Amino acid sequence: MSLPSAEDLACDLIGPYITQIETHLQSLPDRKTVVERPGFLHLKLQLHGIEALQQLLSRHIEIGEKSQDPLSPENVESLALALDYTFLQDNIFDGQFDADFRWDFSSSSGLGESTVSNDQVKTKLCVHALNHATAKDIIGTFLHELVHIFLEMSFKVHGMLDGESEDKAADRTKKALDGNGHAWYFQRLAAIVEKATMKLLGYHVDIGRLDAIKKESYKQGSVPELAYFEALLTIFPMPGKPTAVAAHASVLEDFEEQDSSDDEEQEEHHSDWEGDGDGDVEDAEDDAEFLKERRQELKTLPPKSDPCFSALEARLFLVWWILTLPCASKGLMPFGKRRVRMLLRNINLNTT
Ligand SMILES: [Zn+2]
Repeated sequence: MSLPSAEDLACDLIGPYITQIETHLQSLPDRKTVVERPGFLHLKLQLHGIEALQQLLSRHIEIGEKSQDPLSPENVESLALALDYTFLQDNIFDGQFDADFRWDFSSSSGLGESTVSNDQVKTKLCVHALNHATAKDIIGTFLHELVHIFLEMSFKVHGMLDGESEDKAADRTKKALDGNGHAWYFQRLAAIVEKATMKLLGYHVDIGRLDAIKKESYKQGSVPELAYFEALLTIFPMPGKPTAVAAHASVLEDFEEQDSSDDEEQEEHHSDWEGDGDGDVEDAEDDAEFLKERRQELKTLPPKSDPCFSALEARLFLVWWILTLPCASKGLMPFGKRRVRMLLRNINLNTT
């Protein structure tokens, strides 16, 4: 796992997609501006949808009902669409990667799981809400999995999903910069998206970058050099690791601990990235103190009575949508049917 070399950069087909997301996120206004000023209606609706679902999940976690997963397939779809629109420029659903894929929401035993298949038109996204301590952590897992899906779909566009495209140089670069799924491409895009959570949601969401480096280091059998951490920290600092030296030391320590563990455990950690388990949650679940601390974080969520858009704006959107219905049949709608369904669902969440 290393920084891109000059040779990698010369054949890098995926880097420009990541740069595009970075430029897009830099151009967006912050949450305060979106909420307080008229306009930005689509972004308002997405932000409201995210916050409404977060409140729903927070209440579920606070009540402590552990018998039923609070995420219905509709919730998963709504959150995935809203987070894609807000943080990934709508590329997964209605942008450059749009494909006639279907979702598989089957439950996961870890935190989350995602796969993009090459031979079938199928994308899988699972987020297991019960394995999370806070609603904010659930958002973090969604973003983690969406970053994977964004990258996988960009590989798919270039026929590199299975690493057997005609362009051998591009494949070699992909291997160097994607590794087992948590190497430079993932780290760079996750850092960009994580930085934007502060700007667009008003609070920081941990996407699990440090854990991802630990996993990748173990799979590759080596820890990246300090310069790798320094480069990532120039994009956005790692949560709880204010310096590159501290982050590097943490990964090194974890790597040495893992290395001295028994073979059986190593087998487990070497499992294929397909079906990204992200599973190490048992410790957290058992640690009451940890849960108590994380629940404190719920207080940082925006208050429920803080809708991102006014009732008037929601009505105007409905009127606009009805007026543009004739355009739908001509393929002139700015959003696909799936997007419109989700927008309407967000409006309903606001009024109930
Ligand atoms: Zn992952």
